[in-house]
Amino acid sequence: MRKVKGFTSKLVHAERKQQPEYGAIHQPIHQSVLFAYSNAQDLVDVFQGKSSQHAYARQSSPSISCLQNTITDLEQGHACLVFSSGMAALTTLMLTMLKQGDHLLMSRFVFGNTNSFAQTLENYGIEVSFVDVTNIEDVARNIKPNSRMLFTETIANPVTQVADVKGLGKLTKARNIVFVVDNTMTPAYLLQPQNHQADFIVTSLTKYFGGHANALGGAIVDMGRFDWQKFENINDAYKKGDAINWAITQIKKKGLRDMGACLSSDSMHLLSVGSETMALRLDRSCANALQLANFLDSHPKIEKVYYPGLPNHPQHTLAKRLFRHNGAILSFSPKEGIDPLRLINKLELILCSTHLGDNRTLAIPVAPTIYHEMGEARRKSMGISENMIRLSVGIEDCEDLIADLEAALL
Ligand code: PLP
Repeated sequence: MRKVKGFTSKLVHAERKQQPEYGAIHQPIHQSVLFAYSNAQDLVDVFQGKSSQHAYARQSSPSISCLQNTITDLEQGHACLVFSSGMAALTTLMLTMLKQGDHLLMSRFVFGNTNSFAQTLENYGIEVSFVDVTNIEDVARNIKPNSRMLFTETIANPVTQVADVKGLGKLTKARNIVFVVDNTMTPAYLLQPQNHQADFIVTSLTKYFGGHANALGGAIVDMGRFDWQKFENINDAYKKGDAINWAITQIKKKGLRDMGACLSSDSMHLLSVGSETMALRLDRSCANALQLANFLDSHPKIEKVYYPGLPNHPQHTLAKRLFRHNGAILSFSPKEGIDPLRLINKLELILCSTHLGDNRTLAIPVAPTIYHEMGEARRKSMGISENMIRLSVGIEDCEDLIADLEAALL
């Protein structure tokens, strides 16, 4: 078959092209935990990495391999592993690639749970510095001899700071630091692989990839850029064959095999079917987000709107250079005297909910919910105001969303 280039053309044919039986267009949901062999040597070969067949579903299965191949292709990476959630992917990556005494540079603006996990890493003797990823000099200033990894998101949530992922990639490459990009907010359709220099992509498949809020999942993609011969933390057992495979083998063995946060085949099916419309959904959600941002920005009861698509956003020009669209998350602070909870309670179509990347538009008061645990001082350092409301914009008809906000702001 001729090779197709388009994002959606690839996605809607991705399972079929991996040739499931009987001409099926979807990969079967393999429920078998074990895979048995009539020749013991074949099982030995699976254990020793000489065969790509399967032994036990915690590490791999045909359904899971199919999704991994699809994601590798979308991200134009080298190899992918999928996990039971975005947090499972992210924590597995850090726990298997970092060691006591290492230094991790982490964006100051990361998701609350990622920020909380950084404290867990500190408990295990990994030093963490929070850096301003909108400012390459600040990141460079914080590099130490034991810096092993830089972790950033693309568009931060909820304040929408945009990381210069190309510049950060150049910096980390020059200093032999592994560069990890969480591209949950801007999947490959928005942030194309040529626009970042990541060594690893981590992503929550629960969000825009699946899009329907019916399955959790996460992925790690090794982009094949880092020379693992120059990385101290690869266990000798995994330094076999081509060095390009060393890190992904370590993550699979130490992570999936030993820690076990594997994706179920049912979830794989839901995420994979959901992903077929990812580009269409993102076109619509991002267009809606831009319209809503403009509407709120000119509303007399709104103090400030945070959205990279607005010309007054500090990284507007950078966002234009990096992304196809500016994402579908926006935040705003109502003027003093307007209670954010009462405002949300007046919304009828927009749902009050955590989560993002869904087909439905969701609103959440940020400070008392997802960023409550970290306290006011840390919220302030991230630019989060106490009355901030975050919208994850969905695919509804925009006039209905504007009408809902208009009525709530009366
Ligand atoms: N990364 C980012 C940027 C997120 O926003 C989230 C969840 O909101 C995650 C990771 C974690 O994803 P999951 O909910 O699938 O564990």
